[in-house]
Amino acid sequence: MGPRMTVTLDLSHRPSAAAGPVSTPMSTRTSLVGLTLAEMREAVIALGVEPKKAKMRAQQIWRWVYFFGARDFDVMTDIGKDLRALLEAHHSLDRPEVIERLVSADGTRKWLIRSAPGVEFETVFIPDVARSGALCVSSQVGCTLTCTFCHTGTQKLVRNLTAAEIVAQVMIARDDLDEWPSTTDGRALTNIVFMGMGEPLYNLDEVAKAIDLISDGEGISIGRRRITVSTSGVVPKLEELGTKTGAMLAISLHATNDDLRDVLVPLNKKYPLEELMAGIRAYPGLNNAKRVTFEYVMLKGVNDSPAEARALVKLLSGIPAKVNLIPFNPWPGTAYECSDWKTIHAFADIVNRAGYSAPIRTPRGRDILAACGQLRSESVKTRASVALKERLATAVEAS
Ligand code: SAH
Ligand code: SF4
Repeated sequence: MGPRMTVTLDLSHRPSAAAGPVSTPMSTRTSLVGLTLAEMREAVIALGVEPKKAKMRAQQIWRWVYFFGARDFDVMTDIGKDLRALLEAHHSLDRPEVIERLVSADGTRKWLIRSAPGVEFETVFIPDVARSGALCVSSQVGCTLTCTFCHTGTQKLVRNLTAAEIVAQVMIARDDLDEWPSTTDGRALTNIVFMGMGEPLYNLDEVAKAIDLISDGEGISIGRRRITVSTSGVVPKLEELGTKTGAMLAISLHATNDDLRDVLVPLNKKYPLEELMAGIRAYPGLNNAKRVTFEYVMLKGVNDSPAEARALVKLLSGIPAKVNLIPFNPWPGTAYECSDWKTIHAFADIVNRAGYSAPIRTPRGRDILAACGQLRSESVKTRASVALKERLATAVEAS
């Protein structure tokens, strides 16, 4: 067997950076952060723990990670020293690297996170939204969709984030906010919104797996009713989202007729308003206590007339709904402008008078480009040939 063959074999068994857990640059130890209970069980079996005892061990570790936010195996006092040493030798409790941390004048925090070479994404914490604080998480690096008013839409999709990478965003925020262990009293971080980079319904399996972990009452414990998934309208995935995750639904509507929505949210050409509204009406578990949020970005002279406010009300009729009016957040190079305050208030009044709550979202973190639709990372998709070369080089180094 020639050296070339060795490399090929090596590659096929090597977990790719894309799918595998995070490893620190200095070692080949893989992090347990972001793994499910079943994955932790496999990890301890691989360390030689008897399968019969593996579940209990995994449960102990799992709780240390997600309830206590442990950064170190030493604190795991209910686990024998020998196993702790083995864990330490083969695994870490590292989070992905935070390469930039910004704090806005209004208290909004933004982290730029790197989980693998070229895989960079942003997470934003918005404090004090109605006695709660929301963490806005990313589900993809970049986006395949090209909504014309959205900064992320100008960044090509690099790849989907794994469940581990999504959960790690919550872990990093909790670390920074100093909110371990996971008590429920007086938390700053109470809610999760999938409104960062990417279209969550194009990565539903990993998003659902992440929601299972985040909402588990024995761990991070942010309940499903406090988790909102925002979509630009991937109609065929709506029902699956509801049944798999039980999360709250938010729809990026932004227009009340197909001609305009085709321009603002090009996915509308595939799933036009009539189909979208039918899909929403069928969302599992909708009632007055579980309403759909309709997001509506206020674009000057584009979608902000009183006639459009009335059309919006008509469109929503019969749906347990609330409306979030989002003043457009500008970003470098955009052609759109934000509607004036008077126009936004007039729009809100019409929607309110029809019986829908329609808060105007105060822009948060605009000074650090952390507001809705301003997120974008410098990550670019490496061409497959370059990626293969890189992996070959790593494989050769490791062999
Ligand atoms: N891809 C998903 C979730 C991420 S976007 C979606 O589109 O729903 C989160 C919200 O911010 C969406 O409602 C989106 O339409 C909105 N948004 C995008 N760009 C914006 C901008 N520049 N100003 C205000 N809101 C924006
Ligand atoms: Fe993608 Fe959402 Fe931005 Fe549209 S608004 S480009 S779906 S992230």
